[in-house]
Amino acid sequence: AIRSETASYYFFSSEMNAEAQVRLGIEGDLRRAVERKELQLYYQPQISVATGAIIGVEALLRWLHPEQGMISPARFIPIAEDSGLILPIGDWVLSEALRQSRAWQDAGLPTITMAVNISAVQFRQEGLVARVTELLSAHAVDPTTVELELTESMLMQDARVAIELLTDLSDLGIQLAIDDFGTGYSSLSYLKQFPVDKLKVDQSFVRHLTTDKNDAVIARATINLGHSLGLEVVAEGVEDVETFAYLKAEGCDVAQGYYFGKPMPADQVGALLAAQRES
Ligand code: C2E
Ligand code: CA
Ligand code: CA
Ligand code: CA
Repeated sequence: AIRSETASYYFFSSEMNAEAQVRLGIEGDLRRAVERKELQLYYQPQISVATGAIIGVEALLRWLHPEQGMISPARFIPIAEDSGLILPIGDWVLSEALRQSRAWQDAGLPTITMAVNISAVQFRQEGLVARVTELLSAHAVDPTTVELELTESMLMQDARVAIELLTDLSDLGIQLAIDDFGTGYSSLSYLKQFPVDKLKVDQSFVRHLTTDKNDAVIARATINLGHSLGLEVVAEGVEDVETFAYLKAEGCDVAQGYYFGKPMPADQVGALLAAQRES
């Protein structure tokens, strides 16, 4: 009995080591990924429910690891956050997204909103407002076409400080969206004090709303709550026409999901925008 316990102990502990080593390995590789240009931004279309036109894109990080292939941001963003690497990475994302926005403008394509995800660490970092200001001017991008996505849970962490930061960012003229709405603990009294423009219904309530009555009720309630607060409502995770029809009937403003397009490289978005310009 003792022997087998010992064996299972060693088994368990070497498994833990393996996981820790994988994390360490990823951290080391991630450190070099920015310099080696292994990080890339993909862009997922956001559709006006009323017109069906692409009115924006969300920039989403992709990491093409030289040996492991594509690594999901869901896997490496938490490691980047724990190690502080999210700061240089987040800065690159912001700069690259604005560069791309300028490039589409220079190509004469229709003006769309560029939505960028901001991590909790990045949000609380001293100098974010100054950096956004600097990048907007460096790339000569109209602030009203830029949107920062901040998760509900990171805003609620210290809501008073968040309100101040949001106010400073909003004063730049950029748009602000609350991401993953419905998954954290929101205080409605704070929600109405956040100077934000949009609310993104989390995809966990959207993806199965045609088959799950509770999800449908939550999605509808969130749309109504957003509108009551004077916010635009974006639904993400729209995978089929039935879901889109429901959201349209409920008055949702913007839709995003595989039904309209997966995250794609910039040139593919450019082609879609060019086609939209011709039509
Ligand atoms: P998120 O901000 O909630 O982004 C939406 C995620 O849902 C993306 O996953 C997108 O590909 C996926 N998605 C969109 N539509 C559908 C759909 O119809 N069905 C399904 N099944 N999925 C859909 P992705 O690109 O893997 O990103 C995962 C998360 O990683 C993001 O969630 C965000 O939290 C984080 N992330 C990605 N890029 C960045 C970044 O540049 N900075 C920061 N801080 N976080 C990022
Ligand atoms: Ca997002
Ligand atoms: Ca605003
Ligand atoms: Ca989200």
